[in-house]
Amino acid sequence: MTTNLLDLDSDALRGFFAEIGEKPFRARQVMRWIHRRGEGEFASMSDLARSLRENLVGTAVVEAPGVISDSVAADGTRKWLLNVGTSAIETVFIPEAQRGTLCISSQAGCTLACGFCSTGKQGFNRNLKTAEIIGQLWLANRLLGASASGERVISNVVMMGMGEPLLNYEAVVPALRLMLDDNAYGLSRRRVTLSTSGIVPLMDRLREECPVALAVSLHAPNDGLRDRLMPINIKYPLQALLGACRRYLDRAPRDFVTFEYVMLAGVNDSAAHAQQLIGIAGEVSCKINLIPFNPFPGAGYRRSRPEAIRRFSETLNGAGVVTTTRRTRGEDIDAACGQLAGRIADRTRRKFHIARAEA
Ligand code: SAH
Ligand code: SF4
Repeated sequence: MTTNLLDLDSDALRGFFAEIGEKPFRARQVMRWIHRRGEGEFASMSDLARSLRENLVGTAVVEAPGVISDSVAADGTRKWLLNVGTSAIETVFIPEAQRGTLCISSQAGCTLACGFCSTGKQGFNRNLKTAEIIGQLWLANRLLGASASGERVISNVVMMGMGEPLLNYEAVVPALRLMLDDNAYGLSRRRVTLSTSGIVPLMDRLREECPVALAVSLHAPNDGLRDRLMPINIKYPLQALLGACRRYLDRAPRDFVTFEYVMLAGVNDSAAHAQQLIGIAGEVSCKINLIPFNPFPGAGYRRSRPEAIRRFSETLNGAGVVTTTRRTRGEDIDAACGQLAGRIADRTRRKFHIARAEA
């Protein structure tokens, strides 16, 4: 059986080398070829001993998901539809003046069924493997090439694509480790952001095992509304979530959590909601990122009007809560937040059952 080396973080790669009778220290050299130079063919890894190259050809591969389509939006946002066998997932690159951000998917679909999210509406197919997660970065780096000055174009990674990354914890963490590893992508913890809908016990585990910058999808400032918009709130209600955010900050690379708040007209965008949100912001060191709702067919929600978003933002900022509004990117190619749908086959396996947490 061949091993896909994209599945292995540094420790696992050393373990694999020991297994195939190679010196573990050579793993570092191979890791640099794969992740720093983007090489996928062992035969081209010119400074490896020939015996090692031959051994690898027989036992291993470097295999990222295949590209089904590659589209570029008017604003330069680029979206790839990738084949993961049972379905398709999406990866988005967002170029900005000072940085380039890659938005990565963690699952094909999502079990959590938030009504305002296209991925959630699609249902769930399966968890991605580490190779399919880090493979998105590996592939995008190769396809984007380097900038004129030879620097990498991708400076930031956000786990904000399809899926709930913490519900695929075992595969996501090795991928995060590779993003941070100096022999792989060497990104600082502040430049890698994981966004979660609020899976409390796994937020605690991430804090212990691999703290990166944290974004939390809040979207509602009280339990009644959040239960309705995000069913996961029934299991992990706001007070539990805010507690996990405070604990996370002990180890987090930034001294705040980013709360994402999708602006839905007439649903969560009133003056009273803004006041409740100010109350929440007083409980955790945070910044608020307002996301204008991005429509998709059959969503059943509307985007708040620009004046409503401005007023909401001014109310929060006026109360000393640092609030920004996310600029919508790549809308013309359905690459904006919440529009990623991929192509989900087999939508029946909802593994994650939601029940009210026991008191
Ligand atoms: N499952 C994780 C990661 C997805 S991140 C999470 O929920 O945090 C994608 C972000 O876009 C989340 O904040 C999500 O709530 C938000 N989002 C989902 N649907 C959206 C839509 N239609 N318009 C704008 N933002 C949306
Ligand atoms: Fe899943 Fe996040 Fe979409 Fe909710 S918002 S359905 S948790 S991807």
